[in-house]
Amino acid sequence: MDFKALRHQMVAQQLQARDINDQRVLKAMATVPRHLFVPAHLSGEAYTDQALPIGHGQTISQPYMVAFTCQLCRLHGHETVLDIGTGSGYQAAVLSLLAKKVISLEIIPALAETAQTTLVRLGYPVQVIRKDGKLGYLPAAPYRAILSAAAAATPPPAWSSQLTSPGFIILPEGLTYHQVLVRYTFDHGSLAKETYFPVAYVPLV
Ligand code: SAH
Repeated sequence: MDFKALRHQMVAQQLQARDINDQRVLKAMATVPRHLFVPAHLSGEAYTDQALPIGHGQTISQPYMVAFTCQLCRLHGHETVLDIGTGSGYQAAVLSLLAKKVISLEIIPALAETAQTTLVRLGYPVQVIRKDGKLGYLPAAPYRAILSAAAAATPPPAWSSQLTSPGFIILPEGLTYHQVLVRYTFDHGSLAKETYFPVAYVPLV
């Protein structure tokens, strides 16, 4: 299978044809081999327009959602980012091409281990930590963005205290499988909330 061709087709048809226009995000999505982050028997579906199961009741997000949420972080390459819910490690790999430093937190030990192995093997400099993402991760704070791939009714309180100013929290906000994607911008004491579209993410447990 020509995965590179499928990947470029994914970028053109699922990302550029919609509203992904951050050139660095498009380039990262065209680079990271998504088929190596899904279970081997699903590698043929890796570049389709959908989320896929990765075991333990979890999923790797749809490519468009990965690109859209990365674009919302407005990264230039010098930032530190906290990725909540490592899962397969795919979004963390994409983020590592967009920021200077990426810390990724995963609560399921087996997923954290597999993701770290994949990321090391492919040479993506992501630090995966087995830890409850709700607490954030103080040792590497502050973060330009805290990006969650798991949903919660509101952002856990610890997160805003670990942001730079300005800083972003990207969160699927709401109840299990019925959420809206939101971005909070904290900027020198002011707080703005932008709401995008309905999404269906696994819950932050
Ligand atoms: N970004 C991932 C998508 C993972 S799905 C990827 O690219 O593949 C969301 C992940 O969040 C799951 O792996 C789930 O185990 C994890 N998760 C759920 N609650 C969590 C918590 N409290 N802390 C850390 N990770 C959590």
